[in-house]
Amino acid sequence: MAKTAIITGGSRGIGEAMSLKLGELGYNLVINYRSESSKALSDNIAEKVKKEYGVDALVVKADVSKYEDCESLVKAAVDKFGDKIDVLVNNAGITNNSNWIDIKREQYENVINTNLMSFLHMTHLILPYMVNHCDKDNQCCIVNTSSIGGLIGVINQADYCASKAGIIGLTRALALEFAGKGIRVNAIAPGMIMTDMLRGVNQDELKALAGTIPQGFIGDVSDIAGALGYILTAPYLTGQVISPNGGIVQQ
Ligand code: NAP
Repeated sequence: MAKTAIITGGSRGIGEAMSLKLGELGYNLVINYRSESSKALSDNIAEKVKKEYGVDALVVKADVSKYEDCESLVKAAVDKFGDKIDVLVNNAGITNNSNWIDIKREQYENVINTNLMSFLHMTHLILPYMVNHCDKDNQCCIVNTSSIGGLIGVINQADYCASKAGIIGLTRALALEFAGKGIRVNAIAPGMIMTDMLRGVNQDELKALAGTIPQGFIGDVSDIAGALGYILTAPYLTGQVISPNGGIVQQ
């Protein structure tokens, strides 16, 4: 029987590459997005996985920074695919790029609510389903997108770094709590990956930053989708942070 995966922020960038990877691996897919402008992108991904990989896909609009929207997202997934959810990929994320004097309270609350609280909400809502059907021989997986900002400090990213470090704490704690129940919890901490998030920053600064990457180039979304594929097919891996980052951070 086909397995089911939910991905938050699955419409663009890293999320799009991960959605396609989940389809390639044979998962029926629930693709979440938030902005109206991303509906068509999400629909395209759904069509693509149906056509290329023969899986089913559902597109769900939800602002995962809000608990009620997460509830609706999980309900839509269960209504469509049943209550055996096998994989949750928490990927939705935003950044402010602001110094800590000028930043407004609403801005940093939005980053924490989107990047960290959504991961708490979604795991809180999904784990009751997972504990009901996962075991050692039928594993479930939660994969959380963190960042190198969760491993080191980054200037003008205090709220982002706090959220991404929080994700690592959540990952490690849940991994221990659910290790004996056949549920693996891991994080991916990307370095600089070319998506809209990076396209939005000053391109001269970006070029200078890229020069500090030991491998000398900015990563591609396929590097992160590849890490997801590895995690999903690695039955003895839990509580880990995998960081494709060109060597800029060593753990
Ligand atoms: P992106 O291209 O800007 O995509 C962000 C995704 O998150 C979109 O799918 C967006 O949905 C979704 N999203 C944002 N807020 C949401 C909300 N409240 N509810 C539901 N979905 C929401 O960024 P990206 O670079 O692919 O980033 C994906 C993840 O990787 C993020 O967690 C980011 O922090 C992390 N990351 C990125 C980099 C990098 O260099 N790019 C490095 C380290 C970590 P809409 O399309 O509807 O807006």
